[in-house]
Amino acid sequence: ARAQAMEVDQSPSVEYDDIGGLEEKLREVREAVEDPLVNPEQFEKVGVEPPSGVLLYGPPGTGKTMMAKAVANETDATFIKMAGSELVQKFIGEGSRLVRDLFELAEKEEPAIIFIDEIDAVAAERTDSKTSGDAEVQRTMMQLLSEMDGFDERGDVRIIAATNRFDMLDSAILRPGRFDRLIEVPNPDQEARERILEIHTEGMNLAEAVDYETLASKTEGFSGAELESLTTEAGMFAIRDGRDEVKMQDFDDAYTKIVESSEDGSMPSY
Ligand code: ATP
Repeated sequence: ARAQAMEVDQSPSVEYDDIGGLEEKLREVREAVEDPLVNPEQFEKVGVEPPSGVLLYGPPGTGKTMMAKAVANETDATFIKMAGSELVQKFIGEGSRLVRDLFELAEKEEPAIIFIDEIDAVAAERTDSKTSGDAEVQRTMMQLLSEMDGFDERGDVRIIAATNRFDMLDSAILRPGRFDRLIEVPNPDQEARERILEIHTEGMNLAEAVDYETLASKTEGFSGAELESLTTEAGMFAIRDGRDEVKMQDFDDAYTKIVESSEDGSMPSY
């Protein structure tokens, strides 16, 4: 079961160009993660320690995982993903053991990027640490921090974590030398939405009249993931209609379907 908790990808296929918007955010991630992997001597010469960990925070489906994968791909690093929720285990010591295994594996596979999704599952501020389950989660978090504190000797392993619940995090994980690079990954703005729509319709047979600008202004508040499902749904409408070309009307229908299927008639709010 332990091996299954981690997703190991020797060469993830995501490229920087597959990411819509987020240019500035990507630049920050690359500076913190890619530069130390590719050019460690530069840090030595200048005499600064590269940031230990990068924390990406923001609403779901905005490209956090994509960014981590793309950096791994473009630096030829192994991508090792673990969900924070997987680190919350029933039996005493199991969570800490998973953390140790995770870092051991990364060292073996270096250069490697460890990506911990939903870090809040192990790193939420505890209001009541007396219950035993909480104490165990706390131990797992301490193990994670101690692995990160021992980073210097670790060489080519970088760590990226992500959360949708920044407000819930224990400040201990944000201290210098830990997740000391915070990067907010917001929902896409108009221009980014246009770009994301363009990316996800690249392989689609679109009618002339499909207009990214109009679609983007209609989809304010959509995440990248929601824009992706909009394009897929539009394609499905064309298929149902027996057409091999996707029309603007299909996107409008897809939009209505997506908005209506979310409970209160609006997109889920963050
Ligand atoms: P979560 O917080 O739910 O884990 P996330 O921020 O890690 O979400 P991703 O897994 O990176 O989100 O994105 C999910 C999917 O949505 C991607 O595989 C991609 O198809 C699409 N997507 C999200 N953001 C973007 C973007 N900025 N550009 C292009 N596609 C995007």
